[in-house]
Amino acid sequence: MPRPILATVHSAALAHNLDRARRAAVESRVWAVVKANAYGHGIENVFEAFRAADGFALLDLDEAQRVRQLGWRGPVLLLEGVFEARDLELCSRLDLWHAVHCDEQIDMLAAHKTQSPHRVFLKLNSGMNRLGFAPERFRSAWTRLNALPQVDEISLMTHFSDADGPKGIGPALAAFERATQDLPGERSLANSAAVLRHAPQTRADWVRPGIVLYGSAPDFPENDAAHWQLQPAMSLRTRLIGIQDLQPGDSVGYGSRFTAEAPMRIGIAGVGYGDGYPRHAATGTPVLVNGVRTRMVGRVSMDMITVDLTPVPDAGFGSEVTLWGRASEGTVLGIDEVAQAAGTVGYELMCAVARRVPMAQD
Ligand SMILES: *Cc1c(COP(=O)(O)O)cnc(C)c1O
Repeated sequence: MPRPILATVHSAALAHNLDRARRAAVESRVWAVVKANAYGHGIENVFEAFRAADGFALLDLDEAQRVRQLGWRGPVLLLEGVFEARDLELCSRLDLWHAVHCDEQIDMLAAHKTQSPHRVFLKLNSGMNRLGFAPERFRSAWTRLNALPQVDEISLMTHFSDADGPKGIGPALAAFERATQDLPGERSLANSAAVLRHAPQTRADWVRPGIVLYGSAPDFPENDAAHWQLQPAMSLRTRLIGIQDLQPGDSVGYGSRFTAEAPMRIGIAGVGYGDGYPRHAATGTPVLVNGVRTRMVGRVSMDMITVDLTPVPDAGFGSEVTLWGRASEGTVLGIDEVAQAAGTVGYELMCAVARRVPMAQD
């Protein structure tokens, strides 16, 4: 028998969340961002639900290839553009649109031999200071690109550093508007947080929601997924594979990090950091057992965690344990809450689901 752990990807939730993003940006076309293997959900598992998007945006060329192999003929955008010159051959062959964020990428394009000119998204650094041309260099980059026979349409993009927080998008938006003022071309600005929180200002030809499509709030804990009417797209579930009865003073797990103060039952759940469950999850991290909310106690091991069964007296060997998402009987445990208890974000937990965890779709 395989271990009882399973990650279930919910197609109806993916479709609902995509629709939710679309309703927040009604006049824009929507890139479904599926980088990092669709935020850990598996491109193959999200593809059908996201066919309703206008394009797929991602980073890895092999993921772009998989999207084409699945039969997608519409736009595919490489959000970081190419990493080396020969990537451009695949862009030509698969008709991939690609970001251009630095001079080296323009050099590669200028040296590229192609029959079909490329659609590119010229990226402005609007204050994040990761990728993109500085505002004062943006126009000369555009002029250089525009003169290349290898380039077809040039679209204009930027990425916000603070769409989810108190600083907001004001300065970045102003920088984008100044730098692109009289340049032609389609625009793309907004990630999930900008789509939900700054909809009117970031309205543009294209929006690029990622995390919301998977049902996590981009601005948790200020707002949660329910506030934004998002549904969890992944449920990570396992079962109890053992039970221990503790007496006062007994402790549990490596380092004896948790000690019982009263007699209590502990359930041993078949999940650990080897599956991508965060090792830094502290005692108190929420868990559902038979759909009832309880807490993790003690240290996370590679293959097991230990949970307090006090609120679930009927639980026993084989009872369902939901680490995040929806329990079989319907209760939801938001991935953002679990992430917060482990000092991280929903994004990281989704992406970290390990290869040994089997995935199913419903
Ligand atoms: C990842 C990414 C997005 C999506 O971000 P979310 O916060 O997941 O919505 C949008 N644009 C770019 C350039 C990205 O790299």
